[in-house]
Amino acid sequence: MLPIEQKLFPVEIPNWISGEERLAQSGDLFDKLNPANGQRLSRVARSRAEDVQQAVTAARQAQPAWADTPAVQRGMLLHKLVVGMQARQEEIARIVALETGKSYKDAHGETGGAIALGLFYASEGQRLYGRTTTSGTANKYAMTVRQPIGVAGLIIAANTPIANVAWKIFPAMICGNTAILKAAEDTPATAWIVGQIAQEVGLPPGVLNIIQGYGEEAGAPLVEHPDVGVISFTGSTEVGRLIQRAAGARLARVSLELGGKNPLVVCDDADLDNAAKWVLLSAFSNAGQRCASGSRIIIFDSIYEKFREMLVERTKMLKLGPTDDDDLGPVINEGQLNNMLASVEQAQQQGATVLVGGTRLTDPEHRAGFYMTPTLIENVDPQAEISACELFGPIAILYRVKDFDEALRLANDSPYGLTACIHTRSIHRAVRFCDKVQAGVAVVNAGTYGSEPHMPFGGLKQSGNGSREPGTEALDIYSELKDIYINIDPSQL
Ligand code: NAD
Repeated sequence: MLPIEQKLFPVEIPNWISGEERLAQSGDLFDKLNPANGQRLSRVARSRAEDVQQAVTAARQAQPAWADTPAVQRGMLLHKLVVGMQARQEEIARIVALETGKSYKDAHGETGGAIALGLFYASEGQRLYGRTTTSGTANKYAMTVRQPIGVAGLIIAANTPIANVAWKIFPAMICGNTAILKAAEDTPATAWIVGQIAQEVGLPPGVLNIIQGYGEEAGAPLVEHPDVGVISFTGSTEVGRLIQRAAGARLARVSLELGGKNPLVVCDDADLDNAAKWVLLSAFSNAGQRCASGSRIIIFDSIYEKFREMLVERTKMLKLGPTDDDDLGPVINEGQLNNMLASVEQAQQQGATVLVGGTRLTDPEHRAGFYMTPTLIENVDPQAEISACELFGPIAILYRVKDFDEALRLANDSPYGLTACIHTRSIHRAVRFCDKVQAGVAVVNAGTYGSEPHMPFGGLKQSGNGSREPGTEALDIYSELKDIYINIDPSQL
């Protein structure tokens, strides 16, 4: 008999194409493992170009009718999808927890965030504003309207899987596009259940298609397909670069939400207790698998020793495991774990000191899972590789600086520019930091966190390509603006 959780989704996870569940045409499947114990959770459709083609055909066929459905009614239908997700919030959260190894409590919260985001966009059907303005010519109206682009190709990472699904599909669909979501290979069932709910609530077939598979095999053909008008991607900078290049070759619109190496500055006038709490949350929540995670902790010299002590002490007390009593879970797969271990080892060889962590958990309770101990490192050169590259796990580096100017300089000395945070009691330092830090999000006296559903999120430099999602700003990604001029004096014709 299957364990209870496994009844939440099929043993073989298919694609959703035109409202139907379809395995890959090749019949190939790959294994999805449970990060908490290394056991197989499911077998997943290993889609390739021919499956992507089916999805594109379905999305193209469904698009004109979806575009002709008034935006308010599209919003009503998306609202049904949100209500369907709400009704099954516990089930979704159990799937998310199982696929990622995070606690049910965290997965439930994340699902709540996805629902809030869906609600926001469903209502945007009533607010797809254009602009009316004056014309330079007499008897003429001038206005802009939003129009759909066509088929949207959406590619996501696995770290916060249900939030990532919602983040992409709702804005794409409210704008009148049909969508093809390429699920993250590490979280296939989370995407699958959204496809199932969409069918149950009556979203027209072909409006939301979900493709399972690996990036090179199922993601790349979606990016390259000439009938996919807009690509929105959340993932690594490395893959983002490939996608930009491929989509650029055919001049398709691209939105890239990429990585981060986010600074958190702790000044000598900070509330150290509050700062320590937020450093730990920023660095280690979701096992550090957050684009917004605080991985560079920049500490004033005069409080360095004291604050380091506080961090080390509290980090040692963190509990690892997949339950609600644990502080952080495993990382998503073994490859990711091994990359991190190798990076820490290389840093050590170059003179870095590991203050705590730096290893895989190998006790009987954890050894079958992919657990990285929460890690704090010091004595790292700001120019070293580990200072510059994102590790996407529970690892933070401590740096010592003499004053605010040096802290700001170091915060900005990064190829990335996604989020940044400062802890200080000085309004002047706080405001100057928010003004000068090179990041898409600046935070005072809290954590390096992502944005709320109605706010725009995105990064500078190698953290993205300048687009912002979600918020109303995402509407600009998924719609074309058209100028309309109307001559209102027939005698002028
Ligand atoms: P990844 O780039 O390896 O994979 C992300 C997605 O891209 C997956 O679905 C994968 O299958 C697909 N993919 C891989 N190669 C592809 C290709 N050649 N063509 C098309 N698709 C391809 O990233 P990951 O390791 O799964 O996720 C972690 C990364 O995501 C981190 O860098 C993190 O910072 C970033 N991230 C960014 C945000 C943000 O909003 N800025 C949010 C979450 C995660």
